[in-house]
Amino acid sequence: MPEAATTTAATPRERRHATTVLVIGTGGSGLRAAIELAEAGVDVLVVGKRPKADAHTSLAAGGINAALGTMDAEDTWQQHAADTITESYGLADPRTVEIVTRNGARGIEDLERYGMPFAREEDGRISQRFFGAHTYRRTAFSGDYTGLEIQRTLVNRAAALRIPIIDSLYVTRLLTADGAIFGAYGFDVVTGERALIHADAVILAAGGHNRIWRRTSSRRDENTGDSFRLAVEAGARLRDPELVQFHPSGILEPENAAGTLISEAARGEGGILRNALGERFMPKYDPERAELSTRDRVALACYTEIKEGRGTANGGVWLDVSHLPRETIMRRLPRVYQTMLELQMLDITTDPIEIAPTAHYSMGGVWVRPEDHSTDVPGLYAIGEAASGLHGANRLGGNSLIELLVYGRITAQAAAAYADALPAQVRSAAAVEAARAEIDDLLAADGPENVRALQRAIRNTMTEHAGVVRDEAGLTAGLAELDAIEARIAQIGIHPDIAGFQDLAHAFDLKSSALAARATLQAALERRETRGCHNRSDYPETDPALQVNLVWSADGTVEHEPIGDVPEEIAALMREVSVAGKLVE
Ligand SMILES: Cc1cc2nc3c(=O)[nH]c(=O)nc-3n(C[C@H](O)[C@H](O)[C@H](O)COP(=O)(O)OP(=O)(O)OC[C@H]3O[C@@H](n4cnc5c(N)ncnc54)[C@H](O)[C@@H]3O)c2cc1C
Repeated sequence: MPEAATTTAATPRERRHATTVLVIGTGGSGLRAAIELAEAGVDVLVVGKRPKADAHTSLAAGGINAALGTMDAEDTWQQHAADTITESYGLADPRTVEIVTRNGARGIEDLERYGMPFAREEDGRISQRFFGAHTYRRTAFSGDYTGLEIQRTLVNRAAALRIPIIDSLYVTRLLTADGAIFGAYGFDVVTGERALIHADAVILAAGGHNRIWRRTSSRRDENTGDSFRLAVEAGARLRDPELVQFHPSGILEPENAAGTLISEAARGEGGILRNALGERFMPKYDPERAELSTRDRVALACYTEIKEGRGTANGGVWLDVSHLPRETIMRRLPRVYQTMLELQMLDITTDPIEIAPTAHYSMGGVWVRPEDHSTDVPGLYAIGEAASGLHGANRLGGNSLIELLVYGRITAQAAAAYADALPAQVRSAAAVEAARAEIDDLLAADGPENVRALQRAIRNTMTEHAGVVRDEAGLTAGLAELDAIEARIAQIGIHPDIAGFQDLAHAFDLKSSALAARATLQAALERRETRGCHNRSDYPETDPALQVNLVWSADGTVEHEPIGDVPEEIAALMREVSVAGKLVE
């Protein structure tokens, strides 16, 4: 027997759990769903692969949207819906948008009820500020650490409700029998102990796939496409995996922090973008708004400067705030100042920051129905960044966090109702055995290929061929590279050691990333147009015939899914909104 198998034999082979609803993911969406279930008296278990206090949601900075009208009384959910659909370049699902915007105020009330410390005006109203292309001030916040406070609030509420959370459990497979969900399988990332979880329904809240690019604002080992693989292997499909939001300004160094965001507030406060020749380039791309242009346009401008040879030696451009008064920087950009000192020993009051576009948010995701976020697989639901439907080809800043709150609640209710209505549940010993065998096989793998190196290879391929600008030749080359990488994945070696079973976790991350990369490349090939975040240099125009969602299946087919009509009351409010003075992130 190989050494790894001996290691696992020493630990209990498998721990069994049984629950009504299993939630995979301890970020904002997963916790919100779990709270809804626990408050309704429904048995729930939450699992995650990293410490719950530190889930990806805690990184969110700028704020959370709802048309509360606390600052601008004219605001309505209909206007919020109109702004969301306009910003999506027509690809958002109008029913999903309506559900999120109508229920946004309820989402904020829920957070208040759990004790969220929102910033408030002197008279006690929740403060709301401008964020990106919103018509009115509708972004509620807590300093510049809104996500952290939301995560803390939800973790505390979950603790008060005594919700069981295992945040060291890596889910490797969803379990299905006769096409319906009956649980999930995984292992503990510290001890290697296996877990077999029986559940009536499963809510997948395991994040997106933007870590498959070289520069990403995601945490290390998060957003590796796990939701995509778990759902697809269970029989679900993906919608618009090619639609990925690139943030204009991620740092380049150090390598292990590449992609860490420099807040858009740096441009909002008067920061200037220059290429390696010292030229201020934004007026060339957007003469009116220059650095205050929209996120997708600034990302494209930076990309173009770099691609056309006017970038720095490291492949970046310069973001300069050093001309601003020192007090402005210390007061308005304290996090940027601190981050750059900590990561690069760079003083932004005197030196420019080297930045490049960075993968930031998966706007596509698992195909779900708008009403309840159910998938094609009975008993399987997907929420949060794992799901799709709200953002289309460009996400309105602050909409992701409210989506977690709204669909966390609605989907939990739907999953509980599904469980209630189950007359009996079929299970499959063969499915469990296959899940066990998958881990056994990986632990026994002692080939020459290194998991980390292959993750890097995927990230290089995606950055080279499916970044801010794409074309047919590049995407086709990307798929060929991916074929070669997948052949190498068959030759990996896994070496769990006393530090835990991270190597095994990374191997599963790698499998997920490969699937997410393939879906992204194939859907990007099919979208022969330029729209929002998706720039095809060989198809520079928007094609009205492609105002559809692209639905990807495991066999590589990509279907065109029509988008419903925008209700008249919302359509009447749609217009392009200026972002000037609203870059706060
Ligand atoms: C720097 C930054 C700033 C942002 N700012 C804003 C903002 O101001 N406003 C806004 O609306 N949005 C913002 N966003 C986006 C927003 O934070 C995220 O989209 C959102 O938090 C995602 O929440 P989630 O619950 O879907 O998933 P996450 O918070 O990503 O949680 C996913 C969970 O799934 C678990 N998981 C993953 N795979 C597995 C597996 N195989 N087994 C077990 N568990 C697994 C993870 O451990 C984690 O607990 C920002 C994002 C970033 C990166």
